[in-house]
Amino acid sequence: MSTSVNPLLQDWTGPYGLPPFARIEAAHFEPAFAQALAEHRAELDAIAEQAEPPSFANTLAAFDRSGRLLTRLEHVFHSLAASATSPELQAAQRAMAAPLAAHNNAVYMHAGLFKRVDALFAQRQDLGLSGEQLRLLERVHLDFVRAGARLEPVPQARYAQVMERLAELNTQFGQNVLADESGYRLVLRGEAELAGLPDFVRAAAAQAAAERGLQAGEHVITLSRSHIVPFLTFSERRDLREQAWRAWVGRGEHAGASDNRAVAQEILSLRHEQARLHGHACYADYALADTMAGSRQAVLGLLNQVWEPAKAAAEGERQALLGMMASLGHDFALEAWDWRFYAEKVRKARYDLEEAEVKPFFPLDAMVQALFDCAQRLFGLHFVHQPEVAGYHADVKVYEVRNADGSLRGVFMQDNFARSSKRSGAWMNALRWQARNGMDCLPIIQNNNNFAKGAPGEPTLLSFDDARTLFHEFGHGLHGLLSEVEFERLSGTQVLRDFVELPSQIFEHWMSEPEVLKKHARHYKTGQAIPDSLLAKLKAAELFNQGYETVRYTASALVDLAVHSLDQAQGPDVVDFEARCMAGYGLPAAIGMNHRLTHFQHLFSGASYAAGYYVYMWAEVLDCDGYEAFVEAGSPFDARTAAALRDCILATGNSREPREAFRAFRGRDAVVQPMLKSRGLLPA
Ligand SMILES: [Zn+2]
Repeated sequence: MSTSVNPLLQDWTGPYGLPPFARIEAAHFEPAFAQALAEHRAELDAIAEQAEPPSFANTLAAFDRSGRLLTRLEHVFHSLAASATSPELQAAQRAMAAPLAAHNNAVYMHAGLFKRVDALFAQRQDLGLSGEQLRLLERVHLDFVRAGARLEPVPQARYAQVMERLAELNTQFGQNVLADESGYRLVLRGEAELAGLPDFVRAAAAQAAAERGLQAGEHVITLSRSHIVPFLTFSERRDLREQAWRAWVGRGEHAGASDNRAVAQEILSLRHEQARLHGHACYADYALADTMAGSRQAVLGLLNQVWEPAKAAAEGERQALLGMMASLGHDFALEAWDWRFYAEKVRKARYDLEEAEVKPFFPLDAMVQALFDCAQRLFGLHFVHQPEVAGYHADVKVYEVRNADGSLRGVFMQDNFARSSKRSGAWMNALRWQARNGMDCLPIIQNNNNFAKGAPGEPTLLSFDDARTLFHEFGHGLHGLLSEVEFERLSGTQVLRDFVELPSQIFEHWMSEPEVLKKHARHYKTGQAIPDSLLAKLKAAELFNQGYETVRYTASALVDLAVHSLDQAQGPDVVDFEARCMAGYGLPAAIGMNHRLTHFQHLFSGASYAAGYYVYMWAEVLDCDGYEAFVEAGSPFDARTAAALRDCILATGNSREPREAFRAFRGRDAVVQPMLKSRGLLPA
């Protein structure tokens, strides 16, 4: 295939330099990657082999500018593979996993290049560098060291093999989860099987059935979170709840082609070997060395501070559920597939609050407007929909983002709906990072959600949790869009991983601000603003079931840390390990975990959250304390506090050390009390 017909290799001259999605085919990727990898290697050789002695400009700045074609390709490739995949694209993903990992090894084990970086690093205090330049030098040097640049030739060769095999296994793991999710459907026929389901659940289930070509009148529950959670909350059919629950928690655990048990085990073996090659006792030590937390002790210190109070809170909630069951004459043991169902009944009885009463006030379109309105009031941004600009799927909306002075800030793409070609969960990614370094790149930032689409002609209604997810991902989006750095490596969300959830989680706070809700949470039929009485009920019910949620999250974080703390060459049987670990911690049987190891994509679809699921809670300490700054200032839109958040946290990317960035914003280090308070875990 020649360059002239491969759109991936041509200049993208369309709107904003977006990829020409309509012309891209899966078959274009492998040849385009071959060319991009070769170009990048040649660029790196040229940096390494130049006659001039190393300087920041000819080595670090040049390194940061290199590989642009490859970066561009990787962004499109990973974006499509996550959001609009196909068997052909999945095959390309499997084929490219090892070569891309091999290339990464070749970059960070490039002896000539590392020699120059290392020489500059040794004299870094004498080079007259700016703060950001020094940060880039330190960061890139650490990237090299952590990728094995300092290893002797024999262990280095083995390290490269380990990383390539890990890349293949990570790809396989994610594809297996998707196979189990898209292969499952619970078909509901007739009123008896729909019992208890409110209209919005029925509408989403009817839409899913129609998309799968089923007959009118039939309904489908999928394993998408926005299907399964409402089903478990409302279905009166205990047998069907159990069936759906077992399918949901059994993902990746079935014998056959999509079985993840052996995949996870091999990943753990190889990660242990990777850590040992670096001289660490276990993978958690290797992973945590490059975080704000810094050590297992620091992470466990936080998780342990939460675990027992959370279990105690959950036990109080369980007693309330048992009381509800008794009052209904339901005489059986409370199981994991019952918890949400009875919690909803307690919520209704105790707080006079029903989820079905809340949802009509949270139509998706209005909540998207709420995002944009908050971004405008806090940071002066304007989001302008560009209906004529196409994304990679008809559901994708493209927005131009403008600064207060009207200048172009970047592009925002939002892809909100679940579909079988999209992986589960919600995430932000970049198609292009903001950077200057001689190029002036505007950011192109994407948000993906997995909301169940409303039936044709009906709006998509969000739950309170869905709306929170929408705000969360948009917070990541702002981190990408507001980036103001020189170097791409330091741009946007490419920060330490226990800092990365600060911008996303702090933005969630605006979602529950009465001022925001009164303006944007309007009934989709009548346009009536959410009544004060309903707001008061939401507020009163805020802490109910927080014990359950905290236990589920913390359990997953504890298992993640434990499984990556093993000092054994052979990874464990993950199902057995998880059961023993949770028995040791005393996980209440009727609660369960957020993610089980056989489908825990954070841990095994890549390494970025391995031994790192704790980061959400770590960042929650930062975001709860950070939001207090607005409370103290007297307004959620206080201009000075917003400017400090923007300048110190959102614009700086990785150009500042995170603890220092937080201190600059808050005037001091974070304290843990606001987080404990917001989860109802402070002793009364
Ligand atoms: Zn996040």
